[in-house]
Amino acid sequence: MNSKKALTLLIAICLLVIAGCQKKTEPAAPAAEANAAVSAAVEQTMCPVMGGVINKDLFVEYQGKKVYFCCGQCKGDFEKDPEKYIAKLPQFKN
Ligand SMILES: [Zn+2]
Repeated sequence: MNSKKALTLLIAICLLVIAGCQKKTEPAAPAAEANAAVSAAVEQTMCPVMGGVINKDLFVEYQGKKVYFCCGQCKGDFEKDPEKYIAKLPQFKN
């Protein structure tokens, strides 16, 4: 009688542990995807003026964020009229 009760209890504990493990693994995946999307959105790879590949040594700080350019000419054009180019920059998109 007692051993049958103990076996039933053991099965119940096993089921609880399995259910607990499944609950823990579920929310981790969507959180990791959200973080990846945020870091991808703020990374600038293209010059907003000419559309060329950016040079990380050529940048200006605008509204507290770094804006990179492909050449000095583009940097000058941006500084003359920044509002014209910020629409093309991922770091200014909300
Ligand atoms: Zn350029």
